[in-house]
Amino acid sequence: MQKTLVILKPSAIQRGLVGEVISRFEKKGLQLIGMKMIYLTDEILEEHYAHLKDKPFFQRIKESMKVSPVIVLALKGVDAVEVVRKMAGITNGREAQPGTIRGDYSMSVQENIVHASDSPETAQTELERFFSTTELFNYPQLMHPNIYAND
Ligand code: UDP
Repeated sequence: MQKTLVILKPSAIQRGLVGEVISRFEKKGLQLIGMKMIYLTDEILEEHYAHLKDKPFFQRIKESMKVSPVIVLALKGVDAVEVVRKMAGITNGREAQPGTIRGDYSMSVQENIVHASDSPETAQTELERFFSTTELFNYPQLMHPNIYAND
């Protein structure tokens, strides 16, 4: 079992796609183990997007992530990190495959609806960045046998 972090970006909130996107993860069989609405700060964004700090668009993405609150989700499942990255699609919404979240809902590189952790290590760091231990829930997934059979 893996855990991963998703951020529903301001583009999802402003365009009324929150229910739609969360519904995709639920229907897929991923277990929702944490969820909250927060405002991101420069401090947290500089940590979260540290790998982009020298890019010319760094200031622009920071501003775009503060336009409204965001929703952070913690999801759990077998291979959850890779499954969720695939569901998100590639960064550029115009090039992302139809059927993916970005491919279905985004025409932009920047305003691409979701963030999803890109590796199990990053997921752990990102979950700790956005959730305290009491905000992550450990409970049985009652449909587990129907979702995974004997995998
Ligand atoms: N981004 C952008 N312009 C770029 C590359 C990235 O505005 O040329 C934004 C975009 O919103 C992306 C985020 O910065 O989701 C983080 O970029 P990363 O390369 O980590 O892509 P991701 O993992 O989100 O697909």
